Amino acid sequence: MDKTIFTGPDLNTVCGLDGMGLTAVGQHVTPKEAVLACKVVPDPQEGWCRECGGPGTPAGSLVRRLAHIPYGNRPTTLHIRLRRFRCPDCHRVWTQDLTAACEPRAKLSRGALRWALIALVVLKQSVSKIAEQLNVAWNTANTAILDEGKRPLIDDPTRFDGVRVLGVDEHVWRHTRRGDKYVTVIIDLTPVYDGTGTARLLDMVEGRSKAVFKDWLQSRLQAWRDQIEVVAMDGFTGFKTATQEELNAVAVLDPFHVVRLGGDAVTTTRQRVQQELHGHRGRKGEPLYMARQTLLTGEGLVVGEKQSI
Ligand SMILES: [Zn+2]
Repeated sequence: MDKTIFTGPDLNTVCGLDGMGLTAVGQHVTPKEAVLACKVVPDPQEGWCRECGGPGTPAGSLVRRLAHIPYGNRPTTLHIRLRRFRCPDCHRVWTQDLTAACEPRAKLSRGALRWALIALVVLKQSVSKIAEQLNVAWNTANTAILDEGKRPLIDDPTRFDGVRVLGVDEHVWRHTRRGDKYVTVIIDLTPVYDGTGTARLLDMVEGRSKAVFKDWLQSRLQAWRDQIEVVAMDGFTGFKTATQEELNAVAVLDPFHVVRLGGDAVTTTRQRVQQELHGHRGRKGEPLYMARQTLLTGEGLVVGEKQSI
């Protein structure tokens, strides 16, 4: 029986505005973009001068624009009108506080930053794809994501506590004409292993090599290294060697890469059988070639006549 309890529809909760101290007061939605007009939830302190403690007088308003989480695949912008105050005694001028919604001078909301970090690290999207979905410049997205990646890491000295299962993976950070730039991402998989939660980002280090991961492991305390039991990784042998040299942990392939390696083996076999039977590469219309996707699909997902393959 469906026991879902419904409340009235509310843009503030759907778009995560309530957690950022904002209230939506209007919307402009086209097939290409969504703009949400917002105001700041008033703070009792906001109208008082921080210099002299006297009451400020209203002095107009200004608009700040922040890229927000894209909804319905549309870049979504917050159009925030901030009230401005002036102190009649010391002439100080200030606006409403936006700290809950974004970093100082940021172009991305806090929600957008979190969304971008997850898109990059978990969903393995490129920075250019993320920038496109946020409708911001590549550099804006890249700088914001790097800062956001570092901020919770540096601010939280306990982030290495209780880690027993590590994940290490490489990401193409930027495609360049002179080759790709890589970043090595290190993740705490202990909550996933224990079934108590989701993976946690531990660190991001520029480059991908045995040396990068080895240096990172060496900069940890011996006691911390001793408690690592498992390191999950892709097929890159450098990470495996670094693990064997620095830790007493078991190196395992993560499921994503196991499935991909298995799929690669099936494809290589199909191509070899094709050559042996016909003496040429698979062509359109040939049974083995037509079955190439079905062969890579899990048995439970294959339907209809394709099950006979
Ligand atoms: Zn004042």
